[in-house]
Amino acid sequence: MKVLVKAPAKINLSLDVLHKRPDGYHEVEMVMTTIDLADRIELSLLEEDRIVIHSHNRFVPDDQRNLAYQAAHLLKLRFQVKQGVVIGIEKTIPVAAGLAGGSSDAAATLRGLNKLWKLGLSLDELAVLGAEIGSDVSFCVYGGTALATGRGEIIEELPAPPTCWVVLAKPFIGVSTAEVYRRLNVEKVQHPPTKQMISAIENGDFNGVCNSVGNVLEDVTLSLYPEVAQIKDQMKRFGADAVLMSGSGPTVFSLVAHDSRMHRIYNGLRGFCDQVFAVRMLGERHTLD
Ligand code: ATP
Repeated sequence: MKVLVKAPAKINLSLDVLHKRPDGYHEVEMVMTTIDLADRIELSLLEEDRIVIHSHNRFVPDDQRNLAYQAAHLLKLRFQVKQGVVIGIEKTIPVAAGLAGGSSDAAATLRGLNKLWKLGLSLDELAVLGAEIGSDVSFCVYGGTALATGRGEIIEELPAPPTCWVVLAKPFIGVSTAEVYRRLNVEKVQHPPTKQMISAIENGDFNGVCNSVGNVLEDVTLSLYPEVAQIKDQMKRFGADAVLMSGSGPTVFSLVAHDSRMHRIYNGLRGFCDQVFAVRMLGERHTLD
């Protein structure tokens, strides 16, 4: 028996860090939304009690370091599952890009194994388990659009943002999220207007969304990698309505209302960047079937 699951990437429409907590995590406020750029996860039942990872991407680990492996391992331990699984990961989401690719693979594995191993868990239960794997996994279990608080694991659903194009460009560098957080001076950050972003989304106000984007990690990554600032400048010059780095980077995205400008930005960035995509946001939350 096989289960196929889509694992979509996320972008941060806003990312704020409030303070560092005594447990070492940062207290965050993030508005996140899933986009139509997804890995494909194929889960095949294995009668042997093993977890096997297959991926053709050389940047993706094929052992217990893989977040999809950790998702399967957690379910096996928690629910004493004696069957195994082969997890095939077809990567489309760039790796170490600020798009939560690994977290989304883990979340998709949780949703898919819930079906394959007939565990009967709800999305809420899977999201709680996801938080044990990584702070972004809970959001990825639900998908759609949400405000994520705490260390990222407390999820409040938001309506879908107004329809627009999202053009993403990733330079040929990988960024370590841990390193960016280490270099962040929380006392000095300029906080983005998170409440304004939420109101704009709730009111379907595209200009309001564009005027409210912000990411406190941007300055840290820009200081490490000047090419990220160059991509931002180019996107603005080609007519983007809003430009922001996602997560800890290095991927930069534009929000664009008009098709012609989307084409201009997409074509302008290709050749200059390692990977460029033009996609839509995914409005809907995932459902369990
Ligand atoms: P985030 O936005 O949550 O910080 P990211 O998009 O920046 O994540 P990932 O693509 O998840 O980063 O990859 C970060 C690291 O995680 C990679 O260097 C890779 O070694 C490891 N990793 C573990 N599992 C996976 C997976 N399934 N897909 C991609 N990378 C994985």
